[in-house]
Amino acid sequence: MSRWEATLQRLWRDHTRPSRLTHVHRVPGGRGLTEDWPGWTSPSLVERLAEAGVAAPWAHQVAAAELAHAGSNVIIATGTASGKSLAFLLPAAAAVEGGGTVLYLSPTKALAADQLRALEELAPPGMRAAAYDGDTPGETRAWVRAHANYVLTNPDMLHRGILGRHAAWAGFLRRLRYVVVDEAHRYRGVFGSHVAQILRRLRRVCARYRSEPTFVLASATAAAPEETARRLTGLPVRAVTDDAAPRAALSFALVEPELTGQAGERGAPVRRTATAEAADLMAELAREGVRTLAFVRSRQGAEVVAISAQRALSEAREHDLARRVAAYRAGYLAADRRGLEDALRSGELLGLASTNALELGVDITGLDAVLLTGWPGTLAALWQQAGRAGRRGEDALAVFIARDDPLDTYLVHHPEAVFGRPVESTVLDPDNPYVLGPHLCAAAEEIPLTEGDLEVFGPAAEPVLADLVDRGMLRRRPRGWFWTRRDRACDLADIRGAGGPPVQIVDAESGQLLGTVDEAAAHGAVHDGAVYLHQGLSYVVERLDLDDGVALVHGANPEYSTWARDVTEIEILSTLREQRWGDTAVCFGDVRVARQVVGYLKRDVRTGSVLGEQPLDLPERTLRSRAVWWTVSTEAEQRLRAEGVELRGAAHAAEHASIGLLPLFATCDRWDIGGVSTALHADTGLLTVFVYDGHEGGAGFAERGFAAAREWLTATRAAIATCECTDGCPSCIQSPKCGNGNDPLSKSGAVRLLDEALGRAVAGR
Ligand SMILES: [Zn+2]
Ligand SMILES: [Zn+2]
Repeated sequence: MSRWEATLQRLWRDHTRPSRLTHVHRVPGGRGLTEDWPGWTSPSLVERLAEAGVAAPWAHQVAAAELAHAGSNVIIATGTASGKSLAFLLPAAAAVEGGGTVLYLSPTKALAADQLRALEELAPPGMRAAAYDGDTPGETRAWVRAHANYVLTNPDMLHRGILGRHAAWAGFLRRLRYVVVDEAHRYRGVFGSHVAQILRRLRRVCARYRSEPTFVLASATAAAPEETARRLTGLPVRAVTDDAAPRAALSFALVEPELTGQAGERGAPVRRTATAEAADLMAELAREGVRTLAFVRSRQGAEVVAISAQRALSEAREHDLARRVAAYRAGYLAADRRGLEDALRSGELLGLASTNALELGVDITGLDAVLLTGWPGTLAALWQQAGRAGRRGEDALAVFIARDDPLDTYLVHHPEAVFGRPVESTVLDPDNPYVLGPHLCAAAEEIPLTEGDLEVFGPAAEPVLADLVDRGMLRRRPRGWFWTRRDRACDLADIRGAGGPPVQIVDAESGQLLGTVDEAAAHGAVHDGAVYLHQGLSYVVERLDLDDGVALVHGANPEYSTWARDVTEIEILSTLREQRWGDTAVCFGDVRVARQVVGYLKRDVRTGSVLGEQPLDLPERTLRSRAVWWTVSTEAEQRLRAEGVELRGAAHAAEHASIGLLPLFATCDRWDIGGVSTALHADTGLLTVFVYDGHEGGAGFAERGFAAAREWLTATRAAIATCECTDGCPSCIQSPKCGNGNDPLSKSGAVRLLDEALGRAVAGR
């Protein structure tokens, strides 16, 4: 019996926790398989690695290193802590020893800083490694360009600071042997599509300096890694996926918090929040000396978990333990962040609550247990988070705590959807014209584009180029396409999709900068009246000034959290694909979406129950995107009406639940997509349910929904039909961001409507 079975038993059976432990899955541990160092690895590097505790490489590290060394593009897609860095370090070290250079790309500065620290400690012979990012001081930059042979940067810096000044990098680029793309699975959706185009621009600039670097990608476990890597780089890529690293055994528990007896919106039953459950578990585990990391979806949630766990320990007069719990998230300033990272590494901290930001960069190895409060967006991310647990081969514990939403509730009752399924592949769409256009402009500014370059950017580039010429962005001349404007073309592409500079969050009293939030997210996160939490302190937003990009806040201690709501209208521009199931049509195509944050809800922090609603006056944002939508025939509508089904409520409920379940089939999260439903849509003339990508030009999520439509709507029906509530609740058909206050909604109607859509027998229902 593993140590965790005893712990789980103590927690659930002896303490009789009211939440439900629905399932425990055991992942057996495994012994590692080592191999000899590749013959071309220098003896002094082998010596230094041995001093650092690496006696021999794992088989997958050697396989990937050998492929890269032989000049084959390679992606290594293996588990967390399987030593992917060594796989690219070996060929990279050989390259710099032979006079070549290496460009290392990571999605975050934190990860690059970690890598640099490790390289400086190891000091491979002849390697001059340096970071080149937004924090690199001006005087250091010239040194890096002239002397470094291993440069660590990020796609943003490559896009804005390196490609456009390629002449200053001529010496480096001419000798470029490897491009390392670390954490490649993070390049998904619109961001991934941008990075794919940046890598194409890099290849083109390299060709100008007659270098053709080999791409080495490192990724979390994902399906079809060759295909993802090919989309990302535009090149054929081999994959190494056999993980030969030793693995700690893992106990993976699924937990459903109990119904509280509180009444939520429209009297619906409300579950205890996942954050409250996580805080409790963190306090319990801290008492047992278990080092625990809780991953929480929102920045507010991470703060709530830390505060509540501290409070629970303090109330039990365990002040020493309470001091050993903290929160961490991406928006913190660098100094705050590093302090927490060090404390966790040293074991001074026992409990840390974090947003997914920690998933990146920080190489934390001393953890016993991981708490996952809600679905982290993808199965790959779920395993990556769970993989954080496991100290020196000891058994590890992961606990998935369901949030009160359709997907999480579905998962804790369908463990096969978590444990019996291969991880999904990474979704990105480099051909998105909204992404491609700005990068073609940037490429033309770097070096005028020629017909030959179309091979690099693919067939989708041709119509986009014609459009750019029509719009006066590029000039067509006999020798190619030219950027002749005075401004910088790279300003056209906002690669993180944030839609403008981040909004600064400033304490109105002290004038202190507390953190930042993306402009696109600001309407929902720091609107007037929003509750904002920072380092255990809570603030209320006095005023969001969109013109100045500032949200002024003041310290306050409300017992509620805030949830923004928006209203949305949608118009079909064109239908790209269609499938029919009997009379049901399922379509995929281009749409225009008009969206506006119109108000917010206040919810009790501890119980989740709704306290009230406030209107807001924010500008509308319009979006050209892609959507999947489905309709049922007028005959089906008549049948439903005859049974007394309220069509608007049925469609609305089906829309909410299907948005909740889509992340299971497309690698999006609930906030990447939106929905609209109506009993009669002007463009279809029928009852229609839309789910759209929340990003300009689409990100491939709606397309995945279209491809998996049958499975997706079947799971949606199951999630609604099997929910234990009677008339609908947040675990099935209610949505926290519904613009219509979750009205009308019909639970039984949604099940019947989905039966009609899926073409099921109506008898007996
Ligand atoms: Zn329900
Ligand atoms: Zn709604």
